[in-house]
Amino acid sequence: MTNPESKITPKHYHLRLQPNLDRMDFSALVTLQAVARQSVDLIELNALDLAVRSCRVRQGEKQTECGFCLDPAREEIRIDLPEKITGEIEIQIDYYGRINSQMAGFYHSTYRHSNGSETIAVTQFQESDARRAFACMDHPFYKAGFTIEMVVDREMTAISNMPAVSESPEPGGRKRVTFETTPVMSTYLVFFGMGRFSVITDELDRRVRAAVLPGMAETVRYGLAFARKALKYCETCFASPYPLPKLDLIAVPDFAFGAMENWGAITFRENLLLLDPANTAVDGEERICEVIAHEIVHQWFGNLVTPADWKFLWLNESFATFYGYQVVDAHYPDWQIWEEFVESQTATALNRDSLRETSAIEISGGSHVVINSATAPIIYSKGASILRQIRGYMDENEFEAGLHRYLAGHSGGCAGSSDMWTAMESASGKPIRQIMEQWVLQPGHPLVTAKQSSGRLHLSQKRFSYLPAAGAQNQTWPVAVIIRWFDKSGAGRTTTALMEGPEMEMEMDPDIYAYKINDLQTGFYRTRYKDIQNLERLAAMAAAKTLPAIDRWGLENDLFALTVAGHTDLPAYLEFLEQTGTDTDPLPLSAKMGHLHDLMIAADGSAGQAVASAATRYMHEAFDVLGCRPEKDEPHPRLRVRNNLFWQAAILGVPGPISTAGEEFEKLRGQGRVHPDILRGVMQAAAWQGDEKTYAWVVERMESTDSEQDRLNCLRALGCFRRPELIENALALVLDRVPDKNKFVPVAQMARNPAAIPLLWDWYKGAEKILNTIHPIIHERIITSVVPAGGIEHADAAAEHFNQRMAENAPAADAIAMALAKLEVNLQIRRQAAASFA
Ligand SMILES: [Zn+2]
Repeated sequence: MTNPESKITPKHYHLRLQPNLDRMDFSALVTLQAVARQSVDLIELNALDLAVRSCRVRQGEKQTECGFCLDPAREEIRIDLPEKITGEIEIQIDYYGRINSQMAGFYHSTYRHSNGSETIAVTQFQESDARRAFACMDHPFYKAGFTIEMVVDREMTAISNMPAVSESPEPGGRKRVTFETTPVMSTYLVFFGMGRFSVITDELDRRVRAAVLPGMAETVRYGLAFARKALKYCETCFASPYPLPKLDLIAVPDFAFGAMENWGAITFRENLLLLDPANTAVDGEERICEVIAHEIVHQWFGNLVTPADWKFLWLNESFATFYGYQVVDAHYPDWQIWEEFVESQTATALNRDSLRETSAIEISGGSHVVINSATAPIIYSKGASILRQIRGYMDENEFEAGLHRYLAGHSGGCAGSSDMWTAMESASGKPIRQIMEQWVLQPGHPLVTAKQSSGRLHLSQKRFSYLPAAGAQNQTWPVAVIIRWFDKSGAGRTTTALMEGPEMEMEMDPDIYAYKINDLQTGFYRTRYKDIQNLERLAAMAAAKTLPAIDRWGLENDLFALTVAGHTDLPAYLEFLEQTGTDTDPLPLSAKMGHLHDLMIAADGSAGQAVASAATRYMHEAFDVLGCRPEKDEPHPRLRVRNNLFWQAAILGVPGPISTAGEEFEKLRGQGRVHPDILRGVMQAAAWQGDEKTYAWVVERMESTDSEQDRLNCLRALGCFRRPELIENALALVLDRVPDKNKFVPVAQMARNPAAIPLLWDWYKGAEKILNTIHPIIHERIITSVVPAGGIEHADAAAEHFNQRMAENAPAADAIAMALAKLEVNLQIRRQAAASFA
């Protein structure tokens, strides 16, 4: 465990703040009580963008003024003590700061609505922005208690991690709000904020509250009720009561991330907390529940037990992601949310992890870890997927018992990966450390190759990657391979075997007709059947639907990855799709159509045409079965997939969805209502078909709506136009008028839009200067969207441009490297596809 090596240990911070929303600044006084374990005459604290007026130190009764210097490069303030000191000391810093507009530190955010606008100020500190609001030891290991006091205008509501204990009047129409002292906690979880919030308390659990701006009270009730259920579920599941007296859910208009788990004061993007029934589709509703659950799980995983170092961030995010789904599934089993998990978490993680520049889940030597589009699929999605994998290997009760030991053993403190393995092993008696260390410390994942000969099944493993020569070629993982054996009647039984080295062999019963590796896709690896007859039999079983949907999904998913990597060719992949026949089950359908879309973007010439005609045929079949409009009581997965396919169907020229979109869009234009579960698809398809009037309507709606959900639908539609002049207009609008936090939304859509892709690279080059001034996570999302598709025709220029940027140490160099690797993969697909159709 790497602990930072400071000679002093913080005990308590008392933070007094006087924010001024007219001037967008604050004056403050922080008093840090600490213990010097060795004699010190210099104290270094983190501080950034703060104007310090004075520093004093007190030991016993003696208070002395100190010299100090600020070092912006190291983000530090160095305080010279008048003499060497040991034992308890108190440092007091009087300073001033700006309430910035950068969505980091203490920042302001404006909610514009039809009746005016509201400005609030809130904090966002993960992982190292607390130092922008107060001088502190800004590392998760240094936990302390916090007492926060704020002086705000009387009509404002001030919110922090703990409930207010007192409010007293101050001159000038202001009031002083003092909050209860927190339990010991890390700096990145501190929260304070102010605004004309209304606070709504849940009737059934008065600890749970929502803080929303005027006009949002009705839309937060759904999220508030789900938060109450999620909190109760976690208290039971983790066998540990929620330790704070209250839990606030706060909707923040400008927010770089999705949500933030500040202890007792969770902040959200509006669309991830507020359910607006006219505009929220089922996937939006699912996402609201999943994000609320994720943040509530963090109240234990992260807040109560904190990573001792940022390299253990996965202990927060993997568990929050995994249990986020678990909580939703427990309350809404008919949503089949674990199917959504394998697609949006496991497939995303496998895809990211198949690139050369991937990283390990536990980031080696990573005292500084940034969550971005390069790291999130690993830390969140791969992490959560390998938890699902190990839980399949352990017994579910053992898994939970291990978590109870982990939480109880480190409650209020910090922990690392090793502590998790110790707890899991003592609960299960299984070699969890030996298995999990390999998965957590090594980048990449295996390709398991299966072949049979003389009544024996032979398995071998090797690291899988899209491009040649990723990492060491002799990497192996302990793989708990679950195999389902089928006899001729289609009946199946499973065997689990732990594959510890590069190869393994097992006896096969003579009556076996076919076998499927990675039963129900709980394992985090790819499978290749060298045995063509077995693959054909599985395809036949898929066509007959005797294989479960999740296994049909897995077969196609692996075969697509093998095609991208060049282990098999495009005609063989298309042939497999033919063999598996019409499959309109939402999970395999959505993956198949997504992959065909990927191929359409990358491939050209006759290969591109072959893909497009296959995609068109499957899309016809899909809408023939699904229909174009939602029916009463349709299950979520079906509603989800229809909405998502509308635009692609319009691109492919499928008449049913095109005419439905036309009719429904006319309704919208006439102020009519469209079912929320086709609304997004209708707007996107209408944009593809649309002219400048359609464009003007989308922009007008985007700028006049009060609903963030509606705004996001408009922003996606903005990325879906076909006519080049409208795409140019939309790209200009992104820079001028789309709020920073949402700039990536239309651009990500355009990176899937065959008409927009040719325009993206030139646009990016011209826009880069402006994009350099916005939050790096938003800029980096734009780069990772634009480069892989927009760079296909400009590969050398893109590589040269970004290699230069990376050499200059640009932020998010890992995300840029990932974008370039994805571009290389697309070029490889294009080359291979052309060769196989030559
Ligand atoms: Zn999280």
